Amino acid sequence: MAVRKGLFAAGFRYRLNVRALPGTPDIVLKKYNTVIFVNGCFWHGHSGCRHFVLPQTNMQFWQDKIERNIRRDAAVKTRLEALGWKVIVLWECELNTSARRAGTIGRLLEALKDNEAEYRAEQGRRIAMKALRRRENEEKKKRQGSLEAEILSRYDIPRKIVLDSENSSLTDLCDF
Ligand SMILES: [Zn+2]
Repeated sequence: MAVRKGLFAAGFRYRLNVRALPGTPDIVLKKYNTVIFVNGCFWHGHSGCRHFVLPQTNMQFWQDKIERNIRRDAAVKTRLEALGWKVIVLWECELNTSARRAGTIGRLLEALKDNEAEYRAEQGRRIAMKALRRRENEEKKKRQGSLEAEILSRYDIPRKIVLDSENSSLTDLCDF
């Protein structure tokens, strides 16, 4: 809740608990290409954290359970990254006092700005590549058109063959 409020106040817009993505991320910021998980230190086995202490009773049960959760979290992260998402994990213990919360949210906002810049740069590259490919295609068509015109002017190709070739290309018919 604190994270959501902090993001909203800073002008970020997001979706919550997005089931369509692996692991149902708590917060998804599409414009920033980022998903955020807010993890409980116990359930997700926050390594080295004082909030992650296995109960004395049924210790093996808890250990197995939490190790499964850790493996599942890692697999989810891998899948999300393969889909191109940046994954940010916030831990409960990083949010449990107002001072820590402020620091954590501050760092989160910085990370989001970095992710946005990277995302924009990548989109820019993609658009530039598309434009380049379009230009190359146009030039190729132009070259093909002038070559076909030249073939037609140089050789006396019967009209029927010209018409038949319209679905393929006249240049394909001639073996240069
Ligand atoms: Zn923790």
